[in-house]
Amino acid sequence: MAVRTILHYPDKRLRVKAEPVREVTPEIRALVDDMAETMYAAPGVGLAAPQIGVALRLFVIDVAPADGPSDLRVFVDPTIVAREGTTSWEEGCLSFPGIREDIERAERVTVRARDLDGNTFELTAEGLLAIAIQHENDHLDGKLMIDHVSLLKRRMMDRELRKRQATQQPRA
Ligand code: ZN
Repeated sequence: MAVRTILHYPDKRLRVKAEPVREVTPEIRALVDDMAETMYAAPGVGLAAPQIGVALRLFVIDVAPADGPSDLRVFVDPTIVAREGTTSWEEGCLSFPGIREDIERAERVTVRARDLDGNTFELTAEGLLAIAIQHENDHLDGKLMIDHVSLLKRRMMDRELRKRQATQQPRA
């Protein structure tokens, strides 16, 4: 297992439409181990494969409280099959360090995906889990939180992120 480097906006690899995983191989399981370790190290509640430069339709989520037992969920080739209601949450993203924005999304979603045994499952979620599923699923289509905010806010976020990047030391 290894902690991978998380790509930051405006890295172009965050805009790629990811390809289906299709078969859950040992390499995919190893990738998921790395993704979970990277997410927990950040720390974050979700991480999609494109955020570490792997253009595959795959994400991990753990919305369990930090002081309780972990609840890692793996979504392989997910599809959101139902959306209900509207809600707004203050979201963050590991690819937008230090930025938090109110974003409007569906209140409840049903997602169909496969697990690491290759079995299809369906899950209806609400609350933070529903938000995380929609946020991570967006990453698989190259869609980012900045695409959900107004043009004015987008310009402000863009400026803030470029400023941060300019003062950042080069990273290995
Ligand atoms: Zn994100």
